[in-house]
Amino acid sequence: MLHKNFKNIDKVVFGRGSFGNLGSILAEKRNENGRFFLFVVDQYFAGKDLLQRIPAQPEDMVKLIDVDPHEPTTDQIDQLRDEVLQTKGLPAGVIGIGGGSIMDIAKAVSLMFTNEGSSTLYQGLNLIKKPGIYHLGVPTISGTGAEVSMTAVLTGPEKKLGLKCDWTVFNQVILDPELIASVPRDKWFYTGMDTYIHCIESENGTLNNAYSHAFAEQSLKLCRDIYLGEQAGQTPENDDKLMVASMMGGLSLTYSEVGICHALSYGLSKILHEKHCYANCLAFQHLEDYYPEGVQEFKQMLAQHQISLPQGLHRSWSDETITAMAQVAYNLPHMWNHAIGPDWKEKVTLDTIKDLYKRL
Ligand code: NAD
Ligand code: ZN
Repeated sequence: MLHKNFKNIDKVVFGRGSFGNLGSILAEKRNENGRFFLFVVDQYFAGKDLLQRIPAQPEDMVKLIDVDPHEPTTDQIDQLRDEVLQTKGLPAGVIGIGGGSIMDIAKAVSLMFTNEGSSTLYQGLNLIKKPGIYHLGVPTISGTGAEVSMTAVLTGPEKKLGLKCDWTVFNQVILDPELIASVPRDKWFYTGMDTYIHCIESENGTLNNAYSHAFAEQSLKLCRDIYLGEQAGQTPENDDKLMVASMMGGLSLTYSEVGICHALSYGLSKILHEKHCYANCLAFQHLEDYYPEGVQEFKQMLAQHQISLPQGLHRSWSDETITAMAQVAYNLPHMWNHAIGPDWKEKVTLDTIKDLYKRL
């Protein structure tokens, strides 16, 4: 097929308080497979009101997961799948409640319930053999677009790469802006900036087209309201906007591609274990020659929200570390192809990328 044939989310509920619909949405699915649900919930919600509001029945499993030590790994998914299958069998569905990390865990484990062996076997495009089980996402921090994307990004022993196929996409998403109100200011900034950077990169490259542009343009407008407008900041109105901006930023990428910032960010995550959104911010501030207007506006946002990013990081990195990161970034040809053009290899070498890391 010459053109991408994109699988969208089957159903979306949007609105303040819409989390309250979770129980009735799940009721229809409850009798499938082993007749229980697996809830994967960000550990942050332990002891919080939201945990009490989860409509779990006695037969269901609620797993609280600490997402802070590392981004989701292939081992983590395999272990979770094996443990659930051994103790209770095949769930009727998986519900993820949390940020991009939990979204990816829910998406990945839903696929791995029905695909044998380790998830490392399926890192890549269309390697999954069978549809997964029903999965529903409830984002509680906005920006990555993981709620809408066709991929579940996992870090494995060899690579950081998604399980990407039609079946990865959620069957249902519940977008309740009330859930993101508690996000601390720094994380609100970094994760929101992932959306902003998605749109800047989507727009500035060879794959940009009317479809991706329309979503990016609207998402950028929302980001500007949220981070630079007269009513900038963490308000209920801006939380509504950020949830929509995140989804539209993700939709923009489905027909376009991320670029140089994400390539560098993947290297920072894989080699130095920096978190995706924070790593993007570390890199993006130094890419003014590639994205002049975007980087300038990003710096205004940093100043307005008094976020200071570390400088001079490269001084503590060995040449080996920089080379390893550059190799990770170089091995993402689709991103360079989009950002620079099909002849990118004539313009970008491993040394070019090493020099980019030395700006950090
Ligand atoms: P996250 O899930 O890693 O969470 C970030 C932090 O915010 C955590 O400390 C978490 O506990 C906290 N948090 C979440 N909700 C909160 C709330 N309501 N109140 C207070 N704290 C809250 O965050 P993220 O930045 O959304 O996701 C990053 C992950 O997403 C990475 O693993 C990255 O690889 C992945 N990602 C996936 C895609 C995709 O398309 N699948 C795209 C981009 C990034
Ligand atoms: Zn991103």
